[in-house]
Amino acid sequence: MINRVRGTQDILPARFTDKTDAQIECWNLVEQTARDAFRLCGFEEIRTPIIERTELFERGIGTETDVNKEMYTFEDRDGERVSLRPEQTASVVRACIEHGMFNQPGLAKLFYIGPQFRRERPQKGRYRQFGQIGVEVLGQSDDPAIEAEVIEMLDWYLKQLRITGTELLVNSIGDENCRPAYIERLKEAIRQRLPQLCGSCNQRYETNPLRVLDCKIESCQPYLNELPVITDSLCEPCRAHFQSFTAMLDQRGIAYTLAPRLVRGLDYYTRTAFEIIGSQLGAQNTIVGGGRYDGLSQMLGGPPAKGFGFAFGIERMIMSLPDDAARSLKQVPDVFVAYIGERARKHSFELARRLREAGISAVVDLEGRKLKKSLAVANSLAARYALIIGDSEIDSSSYVLRDMTTGEQRNLSESDLIATLRN
Ligand code: AMP
Repeated sequence: MINRVRGTQDILPARFTDKTDAQIECWNLVEQTARDAFRLCGFEEIRTPIIERTELFERGIGTETDVNKEMYTFEDRDGERVSLRPEQTASVVRACIEHGMFNQPGLAKLFYIGPQFRRERPQKGRYRQFGQIGVEVLGQSDDPAIEAEVIEMLDWYLKQLRITGTELLVNSIGDENCRPAYIERLKEAIRQRLPQLCGSCNQRYETNPLRVLDCKIESCQPYLNELPVITDSLCEPCRAHFQSFTAMLDQRGIAYTLAPRLVRGLDYYTRTAFEIIGSQLGAQNTIVGGGRYDGLSQMLGGPPAKGFGFAFGIERMIMSLPDDAARSLKQVPDVFVAYIGERARKHSFELARRLREAGISAVVDLEGRKLKKSLAVANSLAARYALIIGDSEIDSSSYVLRDMTTGEQRNLSESDLIATLRN
Protein backbone atom coordinates (compact mmCIF):
# COMPACT_ATOMS: atom_id res chain seq x y z
CA MET A 1 0.00 0.00 0.00
CA ILE A 2 1.17 3.55 -0.74
CA ASN A 3 0.33 5.98 2.06
CA ARG A 4 -0.01 9.74 1.85
CA VAL A 5 3.05 11.92 2.48
CA ARG A 6 3.70 12.68 6.16
CA GLY A 7 2.09 15.91 7.31
CA THR A 8 -0.58 15.90 4.59
CA GLN A 9 -4.27 15.06 4.92
CA ASP A 10 -7.04 13.54 2.85
CA ILE A 11 -10.24 15.53 3.21
CA LEU A 12 -13.11 13.04 3.25
CA PRO A 13 -16.89 13.09 3.45
CA ALA A 14 -17.76 13.16 7.15
CA ARG A 15 -19.29 9.69 7.14
CA PHE A 16 -15.83 8.23 6.48
CA THR A 17 -13.93 10.05 9.25
CA ASP A 18 -14.30 11.30 12.84
CA LYS A 19 -11.57 13.93 12.48
CA THR A 20 -13.38 17.21 11.94
CA ASP A 21 -10.43 18.96 10.27
CA ALA A 22 -10.43 16.20 7.65
CA GLN A 23 -14.16 16.46 6.84
CA ILE A 24 -15.07 18.06 3.55
CA GLU A 25 -18.31 19.44 5.03
CA CYS A 26 -16.29 21.51 7.51
CA TRP A 27 -13.92 22.74 4.80
CA ASN A 28 -16.83 23.82 2.65
CA LEU A 29 -18.50 25.58 5.58
CA VAL A 30 -15.35 27.54 6.50
CA GLU A 31 -14.64 28.45 2.87
CA GLN A 32 -18.19 29.40 1.91
CA THR A 33 -18.73 31.46 5.06
CA ALA A 34 -15.50 33.34 4.24
CA ARG A 35 -16.63 34.03 0.67
CA ASP A 36 -19.95 35.37 1.94
CA ALA A 37 -18.46 37.48 4.75
CA PHE A 38 -15.68 38.95 2.60
CA ARG A 39 -18.04 39.76 -0.27
CA LEU A 40 -20.19 41.82 2.11
CA CYS A 41 -17.14 44.06 2.70
CA GLY A 42 -16.21 44.35 -0.97
CA PHE A 43 -13.32 41.89 -1.13
CA GLU A 44 -12.56 40.10 -4.40
CA GLU A 45 -11.00 36.67 -4.82
CA ILE A 46 -7.54 36.11 -6.29
CA ARG A 47 -5.87 32.79 -7.14
CA THR A 48 -2.13 32.59 -7.57
CA PRO A 49 0.04 29.60 -8.54
CA ILE A 50 1.16 27.05 -5.97
CA ILE A 51 4.73 27.19 -7.29
CA GLU A 52 6.66 30.42 -7.50
CA ARG A 53 10.28 31.38 -8.11
CA THR A 54 12.20 30.79 -4.88
CA GLU A 55 13.56 34.31 -5.14
CA LEU A 56 10.09 35.72 -4.45
CA PHE A 57 10.05 34.22 -0.98
CA GLU A 58 13.71 34.88 -0.31
CA ARG A 59 13.18 38.54 -0.98
CA GLY A 60 9.71 38.77 0.49
CA ILE A 61 10.02 36.65 3.59
CA GLY A 62 13.72 37.02 4.33
CA THR A 63 16.26 34.22 4.34
CA GLU A 64 16.59 33.95 8.11
CA THR A 65 12.98 33.30 8.99
CA ASP A 66 11.50 29.97 10.07
CA VAL A 67 9.13 29.97 7.12
CA ASN A 68 11.96 30.30 4.64
CA LYS A 69 13.89 27.43 6.18
CA GLU A 70 10.82 25.23 5.95
CA MET A 71 10.25 25.72 2.23
CA TYR A 72 9.95 22.90 -0.27
CA THR A 73 12.42 24.10 -2.88
CA PHE A 74 13.73 22.29 -5.92
CA GLU A 75 15.51 22.96 -9.12
CA ASP A 76 13.36 22.72 -12.23
CA ARG A 77 14.70 20.96 -15.33
CA ASP A 78 15.89 24.22 -16.81
CA GLY A 79 17.85 25.01 -13.67
CA GLU A 80 15.37 27.52 -12.27
CA ARG A 81 14.83 27.32 -8.49
CA VAL A 82 11.17 27.08 -7.63
CA SER A 83 9.33 26.63 -4.31
CA LEU A 84 5.94 25.46 -3.19
CA ARG A 85 4.44 28.56 -1.62
CA PRO A 86 4.78 28.60 2.19
CA GLU A 87 2.39 31.57 2.46
CA GLN A 88 0.55 33.73 -0.03
CA THR A 89 1.07 37.39 0.79
CA ALA A 90 4.26 37.60 -1.30
CA SER A 91 2.45 35.90 -4.21
CA VAL A 92 -0.49 38.31 -4.02
CA VAL A 93 1.80 41.33 -3.98
CA ARG A 94 3.79 39.87 -6.88
CA ALA A 95 0.57 39.44 -8.85
CA CYS A 96 -0.47 43.03 -8.09
CA ILE A 97 2.86 44.30 -9.41
CA GLU A 98 2.87 41.99 -12.42
CA HIS A 99 -0.65 42.97 -13.51
CA GLY A 100 -0.36 46.68 -12.78
CA MET A 101 -3.09 46.42 -10.16
CA PHE A 102 -1.54 49.27 -8.19
CA ASN A 103 -2.28 51.59 -11.14
CA GLN A 104 -6.03 51.33 -10.58
CA PRO A 105 -7.63 53.99 -8.40
CA GLY A 106 -8.49 52.94 -4.88
CA LEU A 107 -7.47 49.98 -2.81
CA ALA A 108 -7.11 46.41 -4.01
CA LYS A 109 -9.11 44.39 -1.46
CA LEU A 110 -8.34 40.77 -2.15
CA PHE A 111 -8.83 37.39 -0.53
CA TYR A 112 -7.48 33.94 -1.33
CA ILE A 113 -8.23 30.36 -0.35
CA GLY A 114 -5.70 27.63 -0.98
CA PRO A 115 -3.04 25.21 0.21
CA GLN A 116 0.35 26.26 1.59
CA PHE A 117 3.39 24.06 2.18
CA ARG A 118 5.91 24.11 5.02
CA ARG A 119 8.22 21.31 6.00
CA GLU A 120 7.52 21.55 9.73
CA ARG A 121 7.43 18.82 12.33
CA PRO A 122 3.83 17.61 12.11
CA GLN A 123 1.69 17.73 15.25
CA LYS A 124 -1.88 18.56 16.22
CA GLY A 125 -2.88 21.64 14.19
CA ARG A 126 0.41 21.64 12.27
CA TYR A 127 0.75 20.09 8.83
CA ARG A 128 3.15 20.20 5.93
CA GLN A 129 0.30 20.95 3.55
CA PHE A 130 -2.39 23.09 5.15
CA GLY A 131 -5.20 25.29 3.92
CA GLN A 132 -5.14 29.02 4.40
CA ILE A 133 -7.67 31.74 3.87
CA GLY A 134 -6.19 35.21 3.72
CA VAL A 135 -7.12 38.80 3.05
CA GLU A 136 -4.90 41.60 1.75
CA VAL A 137 -5.64 45.32 1.38
CA LEU A 138 -3.11 46.96 -0.93
CA GLY A 139 -2.73 50.49 -2.20
CA GLN A 140 -1.59 53.94 -1.21
CA SER A 141 -3.37 54.34 2.11
CA ASP A 142 -2.16 53.16 5.49
CA ASP A 143 -5.13 54.55 7.38
CA PRO A 144 -5.67 52.54 10.56
CA ALA A 145 -9.34 52.37 9.56
CA ILE A 146 -8.26 49.67 7.10
CA GLU A 147 -6.94 47.59 9.99
CA ALA A 148 -10.01 48.15 12.15
CA GLU A 149 -12.36 47.30 9.30
CA VAL A 150 -10.50 44.11 8.38
CA ILE A 151 -10.52 42.99 12.02
CA GLU A 152 -14.21 43.80 12.32
CA MET A 153 -14.83 41.63 9.26
CA LEU A 154 -12.87 38.81 10.87
CA ASP A 155 -14.88 39.24 14.04
CA TRP A 156 -18.12 39.00 12.03
CA TYR A 157 -16.77 35.90 10.28
CA LEU A 158 -16.03 34.15 13.59
CA LYS A 159 -19.53 35.01 14.76
CA GLN A 160 -21.04 33.52 11.59
CA LEU A 161 -19.18 30.30 12.35
CA ARG A 162 -20.34 30.50 16.01
CA ILE A 163 -16.71 30.32 17.18
CA THR A 164 -16.35 31.62 20.72
CA GLY A 165 -13.61 31.79 23.35
CA THR A 166 -11.03 33.42 21.08
CA GLU A 167 -8.77 36.30 22.06
CA LEU A 168 -7.53 39.12 19.83
CA LEU A 169 -3.95 40.17 20.60
CA VAL A 170 -2.63 43.44 19.14
CA ASN A 171 0.73 45.15 19.06
CA SER A 172 2.78 47.60 17.05
CA ILE A 173 6.21 46.48 15.96
CA GLY A 174 7.29 49.93 14.80
CA ASP A 175 8.79 50.85 11.46
CA GLU A 176 12.18 51.40 9.86
CA ASN A 177 12.59 54.63 11.86
CA CYS A 178 12.13 53.30 15.37
CA ARG A 179 12.72 49.56 15.11
CA PRO A 180 16.50 49.51 14.46
CA ALA A 181 17.28 51.36 17.70
CA TYR A 182 14.90 49.12 19.59
CA ILE A 183 16.50 46.00 18.14
CA GLU A 184 19.88 47.23 19.35
CA ARG A 185 18.49 47.65 22.88
CA LEU A 186 16.79 44.29 22.66
CA LYS A 187 19.97 42.56 21.49
CA GLU A 188 21.92 44.04 24.33
CA ALA A 189 19.32 42.83 26.85
CA ILE A 190 19.22 39.36 25.28
CA ARG A 191 23.01 39.16 25.21
CA GLN A 192 23.12 39.50 28.98
CA ARG A 193 20.73 36.56 29.35
CA LEU A 194 22.03 34.25 26.62
CA PRO A 195 23.37 31.55 28.97
CA GLN A 196 19.90 31.21 30.54
CA LEU A 197 18.03 31.11 27.22
CA CYS A 198 17.38 28.03 25.05
CA GLY A 199 19.35 27.01 21.96
CA SER A 200 16.78 28.39 19.58
CA CYS A 201 16.79 31.77 21.38
CA ASN A 202 20.58 31.79 21.09
CA GLN A 203 20.32 31.15 17.38
CA ARG A 204 17.60 33.76 16.86
CA TYR A 205 19.68 36.27 18.78
CA GLU A 206 22.15 36.07 15.89
CA THR A 207 19.72 35.90 12.98
CA ASN A 208 16.39 37.46 13.93
CA PRO A 209 16.44 38.89 17.49
CA LEU A 210 12.82 40.05 17.39
CA ARG A 211 11.77 36.43 17.18
CA VAL A 212 13.37 35.66 20.55
CA LEU A 213 10.27 37.33 22.02
CA ASP A 214 8.20 34.62 20.37
CA CYS A 215 9.89 31.70 22.16
CA LYS A 216 7.36 29.37 23.80
CA ILE A 217 9.84 27.40 25.95
CA GLU A 218 8.74 27.53 29.61
CA SER A 219 12.19 28.04 31.12
CA CYS A 220 12.84 31.07 28.90
CA GLN A 221 9.70 32.96 29.95
CA PRO A 222 11.02 34.65 33.15
CA TYR A 223 13.97 36.06 31.18
CA LEU A 224 11.84 37.10 28.22
CA ASN A 225 9.54 38.98 30.58
CA GLU A 226 12.49 41.18 31.57
CA LEU A 227 13.32 42.21 27.99
CA PRO A 228 12.41 45.71 26.79
CA VAL A 229 9.19 45.88 24.77
CA ILE A 230 8.89 47.72 21.47
CA THR A 231 5.80 49.65 22.55
CA ASP A 232 8.06 51.75 24.81
CA SER A 233 10.33 52.60 21.87
CA LEU A 234 7.86 53.58 19.15
CA CYS A 235 8.47 56.80 17.26
CA GLU A 236 5.71 59.42 17.36
CA PRO A 237 4.03 58.51 14.03
CA CYS A 238 3.98 54.79 14.95
CA ARG A 239 2.60 55.56 18.40
CA ALA A 240 -0.14 57.79 16.92
CA HIS A 241 -1.02 55.14 14.35
CA PHE A 242 -1.35 52.46 17.00
CA GLN A 243 -3.43 54.68 19.28
CA SER A 244 -5.76 55.53 16.47
CA PHE A 245 -6.09 51.84 15.54
CA THR A 246 -6.98 50.73 19.08
CA ALA A 247 -9.41 53.66 19.45
CA MET A 248 -11.19 52.43 16.31
CA LEU A 249 -11.43 48.93 17.76
CA ASP A 250 -12.96 50.47 20.89
CA GLN A 251 -15.50 52.38 18.80
CA ARG A 252 -16.48 49.16 17.08
CA GLY A 253 -16.88 47.37 20.39
CA ILE A 254 -14.17 44.83 19.53
CA ALA A 255 -12.38 43.46 22.58
CA TYR A 256 -8.61 43.07 22.37
CA THR A 257 -5.59 42.50 24.56
CA LEU A 258 -2.41 44.53 24.22
CA ALA A 259 0.43 42.08 23.65
CA PRO A 260 3.69 44.04 23.71
CA ARG A 261 5.71 40.88 23.01
CA LEU A 262 3.72 39.86 19.96
CA VAL A 263 5.90 39.84 16.86
CA ARG A 264 5.31 38.25 13.48
CA GLY A 265 7.47 35.55 11.93
CA LEU A 266 8.24 37.32 8.69
CA ASP A 267 10.64 40.17 7.98
CA TYR A 268 8.28 42.37 6.02
CA TYR A 269 5.88 43.37 8.80
CA THR A 270 5.70 46.94 10.12
CA ARG A 271 3.53 48.67 12.72
CA THR A 272 0.27 46.86 13.52
CA ALA A 273 0.59 43.14 14.20
CA PHE A 274 -2.20 40.97 15.52
CA GLU A 275 -3.15 37.41 16.27
CA ILE A 276 -6.31 35.60 17.25
CA ILE A 277 -5.72 32.72 19.58
CA GLY A 278 -8.15 29.92 20.34
CA SER A 279 -8.91 28.09 23.53
CA GLN A 280 -9.20 24.53 22.23
CA LEU A 281 -6.10 24.08 20.11
CA GLY A 282 -3.31 23.10 22.51
CA ALA A 283 0.23 24.19 21.67
CA GLN A 284 -0.63 25.41 18.16
CA ASN A 285 -3.21 27.89 19.43
CA THR A 286 -2.79 30.72 16.93
CA ILE A 287 -5.74 30.63 14.55
CA VAL A 288 -5.19 33.92 12.73
CA GLY A 289 -2.05 35.97 12.19
CA GLY A 290 -1.85 39.30 10.45
CA GLY A 291 -0.29 42.69 10.19
CA ARG A 292 0.89 45.61 8.14
CA TYR A 293 3.60 45.20 5.52
CA ASP A 294 4.12 48.60 3.93
CA GLY A 295 7.50 47.93 2.34
CA LEU A 296 6.81 44.60 0.69
CA SER A 297 5.90 45.82 -2.79
CA GLN A 298 9.17 47.73 -3.07
CA MET A 299 11.15 44.82 -1.67
CA LEU A 300 9.76 42.80 -4.57
CA GLY A 301 10.73 45.44 -7.13
CA GLY A 302 7.28 47.04 -7.38
CA PRO A 303 6.05 50.59 -6.83
CA PRO A 304 5.74 52.01 -3.32
CA ALA A 305 2.54 50.59 -1.79
CA LYS A 306 1.08 49.93 1.61
CA GLY A 307 -0.41 46.66 2.69
CA PHE A 308 -2.35 45.10 5.52
CA GLY A 309 -3.71 41.59 5.79
CA PHE A 310 -4.13 38.37 7.67
CA ALA A 311 -4.21 34.63 7.10
CA PHE A 312 -5.70 31.79 9.05
CA GLY A 313 -5.24 28.06 8.87
CA ILE A 314 -8.39 26.30 7.69
CA GLU A 315 -7.65 23.21 9.81
CA ARG A 316 -7.29 25.33 12.95
CA MET A 317 -10.47 27.26 12.16
CA ILE A 318 -12.28 23.94 11.77
CA MET A 319 -10.89 22.66 15.07
CA SER A 320 -12.40 25.76 16.71
CA LEU A 321 -15.91 25.17 15.30
CA PRO A 322 -18.73 24.16 17.63
CA ASP A 323 -19.26 20.38 17.61
CA ASP A 324 -22.51 20.49 15.68
CA ALA A 325 -21.27 22.95 13.04
CA ALA A 326 -21.16 20.60 10.09
CA ARG A 327 -23.92 18.21 11.04
CA SER A 328 -26.53 19.94 8.93
CA LEU A 329 -24.12 20.13 5.99
CA LYS A 330 -23.66 16.43 5.48
CA GLN A 331 -24.54 15.59 1.93
CA VAL A 332 -27.42 13.12 2.05
CA PRO A 333 -29.51 11.98 -0.90
CA ASP A 334 -33.19 12.95 -0.85
CA VAL A 335 -34.12 9.52 -2.06
CA PHE A 336 -32.50 6.14 -2.65
CA VAL A 337 -34.12 4.14 -5.44
CA ALA A 338 -34.33 0.37 -4.90
CA TYR A 339 -35.98 -1.98 -7.41
CA ILE A 340 -37.01 -5.56 -7.89
CA GLY A 341 -36.30 -7.11 -11.30
CA GLU A 342 -34.83 -6.06 -14.63
CA ARG A 343 -37.82 -4.09 -15.92
CA ALA A 344 -37.97 -2.03 -12.69
CA ARG A 345 -34.23 -1.40 -12.90
CA LYS A 346 -34.60 0.24 -16.30
CA HIS A 347 -37.61 2.19 -15.06
CA SER A 348 -35.64 3.36 -12.00
CA PHE A 349 -33.02 5.05 -14.12
CA GLU A 350 -35.68 6.91 -16.08
CA LEU A 351 -37.56 7.97 -12.97
CA ALA A 352 -34.32 9.09 -11.29
CA ARG A 353 -33.59 11.30 -14.28
CA ARG A 354 -36.99 13.03 -13.94
CA LEU A 355 -36.49 13.46 -10.18
CA ARG A 356 -33.09 15.06 -10.72
CA GLU A 357 -34.56 17.39 -13.34
CA ALA A 358 -36.94 18.49 -10.59
CA GLY A 359 -33.96 19.25 -8.32
CA ILE A 360 -34.27 16.15 -6.15
CA SER A 361 -31.06 14.23 -5.43
CA ALA A 362 -31.73 10.61 -6.31
CA VAL A 363 -29.30 7.70 -5.93
CA VAL A 364 -30.14 4.51 -7.80
CA ASP A 365 -28.77 1.21 -6.54
CA LEU A 366 -26.14 0.47 -9.19
CA GLU A 367 -25.12 -2.86 -7.73
CA GLY A 368 -28.29 -4.84 -8.37
CA ARG A 369 -28.76 -5.93 -4.77
CA LYS A 370 -31.64 -7.67 -3.09
CA LEU A 371 -34.18 -5.23 -1.61
CA LYS A 372 -33.10 -5.73 2.01
CA LYS A 373 -29.44 -5.06 1.23
CA SER A 374 -30.45 -2.11 -0.89
CA LEU A 375 -32.28 -0.55 2.04
CA ALA A 376 -29.23 -1.09 4.25
CA VAL A 377 -27.18 0.99 1.82
CA ALA A 378 -29.88 3.68 1.82
CA ASN A 379 -29.52 3.72 5.60
CA SER A 380 -25.77 4.07 5.58
CA LEU A 381 -26.05 6.99 3.13
CA ALA A 382 -28.60 8.51 5.55
CA ALA A 383 -31.06 8.93 2.66
CA ARG A 384 -34.28 10.57 3.83
CA TYR A 385 -36.47 8.30 1.73
CA ALA A 386 -36.23 5.08 -0.20
CA LEU A 387 -38.32 4.44 -3.26
CA ILE A 388 -39.23 0.84 -3.91
CA ILE A 389 -40.10 -0.10 -7.46
CA GLY A 390 -41.37 -3.44 -8.78
CA ASP A 391 -43.49 -4.54 -11.76
CA SER A 392 -46.78 -3.81 -10.03
CA GLU A 393 -45.69 -0.25 -9.14
CA ILE A 394 -44.85 0.39 -12.79
CA ASP A 395 -48.18 -1.06 -13.97
CA SER A 396 -50.20 1.01 -11.50
CA SER A 397 -48.02 4.17 -11.85
CA SER A 398 -47.88 4.35 -8.09
CA TYR A 399 -44.65 4.14 -6.15
CA VAL A 400 -43.87 3.03 -2.61
CA LEU A 401 -42.06 5.82 -0.74
CA ARG A 402 -40.52 4.74 2.54
CA ASP A 403 -39.55 7.29 5.19
CA MET A 404 -36.18 5.96 6.36
CA THR A 405 -36.48 7.49 9.83
CA THR A 406 -39.98 6.33 10.75
CA GLY A 407 -40.25 3.31 8.45
CA GLU A 408 -43.66 4.60 7.33
CA GLN A 409 -44.58 3.74 3.70
CA ARG A 410 -46.92 5.55 1.33
CA ASN A 411 -48.12 4.91 -2.21
CA LEU A 412 -47.73 7.98 -4.44
CA SER A 413 -48.16 8.95 -8.08
CA GLU A 414 -45.11 10.45 -9.78
CA SER A 415 -46.35 14.04 -9.41
CA ASP A 416 -47.20 13.53 -5.72
CA LEU A 417 -43.83 11.92 -5.28
CA ILE A 418 -42.05 14.96 -6.70
CA ALA A 419 -44.15 17.31 -4.58
CA THR A 420 -43.39 15.31 -1.40
CA LEU A 421 -39.65 15.01 -2.06
CA ARG A 422 -39.33 18.67 -2.92
CA ASN A 423 -40.78 19.57 0.43
P1 AMP B 1 1.56 32.48 9.40
O1 AMP B 1 1.55 32.58 7.89
O2 AMP B 1 2.72 31.68 9.91
O3 AMP B 1 1.34 33.78 10.08
O4 AMP B 1 0.31 31.58 9.75
C1 AMP B 1 -1.00 32.06 9.71
C2 AMP B 1 -1.91 30.97 10.17
O5 AMP B 1 -1.80 29.84 9.30
C3 AMP B 1 -1.58 30.39 11.53
O6 AMP B 1 -2.14 31.16 12.54
C4 AMP B 1 -2.21 29.04 11.46
O7 AMP B 1 -3.60 29.10 11.67
C5 AMP B 1 -1.95 28.64 10.03
N1 AMP B 1 -0.75 27.81 9.90
C6 AMP B 1 0.53 28.20 9.78
N2 AMP B 1 1.36 27.15 9.66
C7 AMP B 1 0.58 26.04 9.72
C8 AMP B 1 0.83 24.63 9.63
N3 AMP B 1 2.06 24.14 9.45
N4 AMP B 1 -0.23 23.79 9.72
C9 AMP B 1 -1.48 24.27 9.89
N5 AMP B 1 -1.77 25.58 9.96
C10 AMP B 1 -0.76 26.47 9.87
